[in-house]
Amino acid sequence: MIAGIELGGTKTVVATGTAGGLVHEEWRFPTTTPAQTLAQALGWLAERGVPEAIGVAAFGPVGIVKGRPAYGKVLATPKPGWADFSIVDPLLEAFPGVRVTLDTDVNAAVLAEAKLGAGQGVEDLAYITIGTGIGAGILSGGHLIHGALHPEFGHFKVPRMPGDGFAGVCSFHGDCLEGLASGPSIAARWGTAAADLAVDHPAWDTEAWYLAHGALALLGIVSPARVIIGGGVSQAEGFHAKTERILNEIAGGYFLPLGETPYVVPPLLGQQAGIVGALLLTGV
Ligand code: ADP
Ligand code: ZN
Repeated sequence: MIAGIELGGTKTVVATGTAGGLVHEEWRFPTTTPAQTLAQALGWLAERGVPEAIGVAAFGPVGIVKGRPAYGKVLATPKPGWADFSIVDPLLEAFPGVRVTLDTDVNAAVLAEAKLGAGQGVEDLAYITIGTGIGAGILSGGHLIHGALHPEFGHFKVPRMPGDGFAGVCSFHGDCLEGLASGPSIAARWGTAAADLAVDHPAWDTEAWYLAHGALALLGIVSPARVIIGGGVSQAEGFHAKTERILNEIAGGYFLPLGETPYVVPPLLGQQAGIVGALLLTGV
């Protein structure tokens, strides 16, 4: 039996399936305290058998590099009770000897989209998510990028859109990319939830401007052949095309590899990317 667990900020998904990313059976439930959330996922799995491998896709920051002291632990998160909690130890206690592969939710998503979604056949691929937070998973030469911790794409300082005086909402940095362009940032800036903003609202020009500058940073550093943008906020109509248009303007005829169009695309797997990616992690 192969298992996958997607630990999200608001919901958790647990599944049985194959290392090829096929889901046999899954269960979604709200994320609560770490101990309770893990116990619920493990209880559900135990009713189905003993997994030989579990892939875990977790919200960050989380220690994903094996051999480092922080491996398996949730790190500096504002989520109450989660900081310093090991999400790997309970799995090993429940199923001694089980093979655990842990990665970030966005790395799981980029893996899933590369194997089965909007990035099939693309070995240099980035997956950006815009929801409650902003993050990016990066596949380079077919390998997931980890670094010393893992990339924190949402928290770098983007240039300011001319005339934008909004302070930003990141509790760590104020006006990092996430502080200026996440779902909560949009709600704070315009006084309306992103989901309720009209398609012709100026918010979408601002949003695409910031995401285009975020994407340009990825182009400058890891040179993806395609950029997938997912997450709740990305569902706004026309968002990908608008972001690509601005990206082309600011790239100044430089950067864009292969001249591939469309370059900025929506995900194909949608809500399933995380859990499919978690299953795929068992084969990495
Ligand atoms: P989470 O990051 O918690 O997993 P989501 O990825 O679903 O959640 O993102 C939630 C954000 O997406 C909220 O800010 C919400 O207003 C926004 N959102 C949801 N649906 C849409 C939509 N159709 N268009 C624009 N924004 C949306
Ligand atoms: Zn930040």
